[in-house]
Amino acid sequence: MTNYLGIPLFQGEELVGVVAIANRSAGVDASLVQLLEPFVSTYAIMIVTLRQRRAQQQYEQQLLESKQQAERANRAKSQFLSSMSHELRTPLNSILGFAQLLGASRREPLSDRQRGFVDHITQAGQHLLSLVNDVLNLAKIEAGELTLSPEPLPLAGLAQTACDMVADLARARQVRIDNQVVDAALHVCADLTRLRQVVLNLLSNAIKYNRPGGSVRVQPLPLQRDAADGVWRCGLAIADTGIGIPADRQHRVFRAFERLGQETGPIEGTGIGLMITRELVERMNGTIGFDSREGEGSTFYVRLPAVLPDAPAGCGQPDGDAPQAAAVAQRAAPSAALRQHLVLYVEDNPANAALMREIAAERDDVRLLLAHDGEQALELALLHRPELILMDINLPGLSGQQAAARLKTWPETAGIPIFALSADATASTRERAQQSGMFSGYLTKPIVLEQIHAVFDALRDGRPLTPVWQEAGG
Ligand code: ADP
Repeated sequence: MTNYLGIPLFQGEELVGVVAIANRSAGVDASLVQLLEPFVSTYAIMIVTLRQRRAQQQYEQQLLESKQQAERANRAKSQFLSSMSHELRTPLNSILGFAQLLGASRREPLSDRQRGFVDHITQAGQHLLSLVNDVLNLAKIEAGELTLSPEPLPLAGLAQTACDMVADLARARQVRIDNQVVDAALHVCADLTRLRQVVLNLLSNAIKYNRPGGSVRVQPLPLQRDAADGVWRCGLAIADTGIGIPADRQHRVFRAFERLGQETGPIEGTGIGLMITRELVERMNGTIGFDSREGEGSTFYVRLPAVLPDAPAGCGQPDGDAPQAAAVAQRAAPSAALRQHLVLYVEDNPANAALMREIAAERDDVRLLLAHDGEQALELALLHRPELILMDINLPGLSGQQAAARLKTWPETAGIPIFALSADATASTRERAQQSGMFSGYLTKPIVLEQIHAVFDALRDGRPLTPVWQEAGG
């Protein structure tokens, strides 16, 4: 070797490599070190970055693997529980079925003593069955296998059915049930079977943990907007005059297999009913809570997203949607004695929309729904069937003309009068709109307040919405 230059690569304090030049014909000196300086620092950074990236990738891979492993383990557990429960249910059904046959046989009647034994078998079997069912339910929920079909459900009907279903249990325990949910307007978006299961769970707890001569009251929870997520919800409160839950145990109420001191008592239970109940409520985008005083009683509250009774299956709109919520508030609010007329305004310009909102806000008899494009207009019109549509013509995407044409072809919306609103005041545009036969009127922008009020007045008075073919500028 005739000559050799080695430059260490440092990143901070750490030596991450060496750049070496050997046998250079011109030899090496300090000026070469200077020349190589920028390269040297760049290499150091590149080496460190590459190392970091590789470590990060390894870390991510490990993370992914452990997550997949955890998921596999959880699935295996749920599958095991689920198949076990199925396996247990089959023989249990035989036990229960034959026990009933034994007890009910007329040809070979049992002695009283024997009937007593059979009753024990039946009772214990029933208990085992409900345990198995609960575990199966829990496994399904945890495995994500629970499918929900949300639809608009009347709270009053639901409460009545559930009360009827627990009437025998209540009678046996000498507990009176007082159902006060009668408001036919209250509808929630939920899965029928699952919501019924929720209400039944809460009702049977309220009866089980009551006292002879006690009572259970089912009350409506009025429509309210939840501050946390902006969703409008209504629901039920189930209040009992039972034993209550001691304050120091209340934080464990929704935990699995927690019986809060009842495990040694005479009241049968598995301790997972409330956990399942909460899972179900939350899966339906609802909320659940309770108040309780030891020795006085407990009240459990369930709230679910409110919907209009005529919302389609699946409830149409995502929860918390402003127009839907406004319409729910309007139609479901018990205080809305005044008849309000639903008007849909289709407008992409926020300033114009705000102006119309102000105009409508001045009146108690008009409720404004806003759509910001043609597609949303179709959706809202179908969902809410407004009495009047004010349609901006120049919309992004589907034009006002096209949206109106679509609405006129659907039987559900064909009868809704549509007024065109356009900044295009030329006579030819107006005539085209008139001749298309789709519009009941044509209003030019800027909006003339009195004309809008005149249209709203006609709506209020039930007068036919006479065509307004407004002249340009006037
Ligand atoms: P289970 O009734 O099968 O024991 P739950 O999960 O439904 O299980 O309830 C858990 C526990 O919460 C019960 O064991 C009981 O101690 C308590 N609890 C539930 N509801 C009430 C109620 N309405 N009043 C008093 N205690 C209750």
